[in-house]
Amino acid sequence: MHCPFCGALDTKVIDSRLVAEGDQVRRRRECITCEERFTTYETAELVMPRIIKQNGNREPFDESKLYSGLNKALEKRPVSVEAVESAVNRIKHYIRATGEREVPSGLLGEAVMRELRQLDEVAFVRFASVYRSFKDLNEFRAEIDRLSNDDHLPGQQTSDQG
Ligand SMILES: [Zn+2]
Repeated sequence: MHCPFCGALDTKVIDSRLVAEGDQVRRRRECITCEERFTTYETAELVMPRIIKQNGNREPFDESKLYSGLNKALEKRPVSVEAVESAVNRIKHYIRATGEREVPSGLLGEAVMRELRQLDEVAFVRFASVYRSFKDLNEFRAEIDRLSNDDHLPGQQTSDQG
C-alpha cells in the first residue's frame, strides 16, 4: 500500500478494528518514510465481474435483473423463494469463481439455464426458448442434451482484449 502523501511503499498498521458490523476492517496506517497517517478500509472481495454483452458492450452485473429473469421463467411454478435465492447464489458464485473481471453474457445465460433445469423443467424450457432462438425442435433438444452433459465451463470464445 503506497503512502498517499509521499508514495513510499512501506507503511505500518498502527491500529486495526472491525467496523460496519464486522463487514469491514478499518486500519490506521503510518508511513515509515514521511510519518504521515492515513486510514484504509478493507472489505471482502464481493465484486462481480462485468458482463460482456453480445454487441461487445460491458455492463455491471445486475442481481435484480437476474432475479426478474428467473422469476419470469418461474411464474406460477411450484418453486419456493428460498430455492430461487439459492440458485441466484450459486450462479453468482459460479460467475465469481471464473476469476475474470469480465465474462461473456453467454456464460451467465448458461449458468441460469443449468439452475432452471434443476429447479423446474417448464421454467427451463420457457427461459431457454427465449434465451436461444431455436430454429427447430431438434436444435432445442440438442441443446438440452448438451447442457445435461455439461459439467465444465462452456467453451467460450475468448473476447478480444481491446
Ligand atoms: Zn509517506
